[in-house]
Amino acid sequence: MSPILESIQSQDTALLDELNQMEPEQLLSWASTNFGDRAGIITSFQDTGCVMVDMASKIAPDLRVLTIDTLRLHPETYALMNTVEERYGITVERFKPDPVKLKQMVQQHGEFLFFDSKTKQEFCCQIRKVEPNIEALKTVDVWITGLRQDHSDTRSETPKAQFDETVWGKIIKLAPLANWNAQKIKAYVDEHEVPYNSLYDNGYTSIGCKICSTPTLPHEDVRAGRWRWFNAMDPESSKECGIHTNVDGGGI
Ligand code: SF4
Repeated sequence: MSPILESIQSQDTALLDELNQMEPEQLLSWASTNFGDRAGIITSFQDTGCVMVDMASKIAPDLRVLTIDTLRLHPETYALMNTVEERYGITVERFKPDPVKLKQMVQQHGEFLFFDSKTKQEFCCQIRKVEPNIEALKTVDVWITGLRQDHSDTRSETPKAQFDETVWGKIIKLAPLANWNAQKIKAYVDEHEVPYNSLYDNGYTSIGCKICSTPTLPHEDVRAGRWRWFNAMDPESSKECGIHTNVDGGGI
């Protein structure tokens, strides 16, 4: 076993301390150099992910780019994926829901089950997002994400590097731009002419599936547009889909 994998298994905090001091480009380069195709940016093609893909194209061009295609994304998001592939000469690896489970879910609960209850929304996210994300994670030891501290209160402590526990063992989870804010991201996008999702120009501040992500008002939390119909019923309702938390939506 390599010394770095041993560090992961032993939860070496010295390694995390070192990684948390690094700049975003250094983290991307470190992941690519030390883990090769066992490291990857898993992105939903929001601005933070697009910035990381742009950075990687300059200093770690072989770094894999993966995405979870829920089959319910906005047309603008699918268009952006194609643009990114052309611009950087890469192939985005698309992980999709299990077709059998998807068919069963829709037959049993309907296409729009997420309107019915928080439990059914989490179940839909489990089938369409969380399980494909697990399949993607099985292919990496270093999971590079676009999580940022300014996304929401629940993400305000997000470190640049942490260990993440999976059922098959530990992996390193990197969030190279964790401490960047929206203004800094926007400045990078403008300066480097990074392709971005045109929905941002229509008031979206967080972009996921069609219907389930909507534009936000200036006074609202960045993720307030997610599953907006729950806001009035339950203001404390979670704005996480389960990819970055341990939502168990499999119990329906
Ligand atoms: S965001 Fe909506 S459509 Fe997408 S997986 Fe979750 S509940 Fe289903």
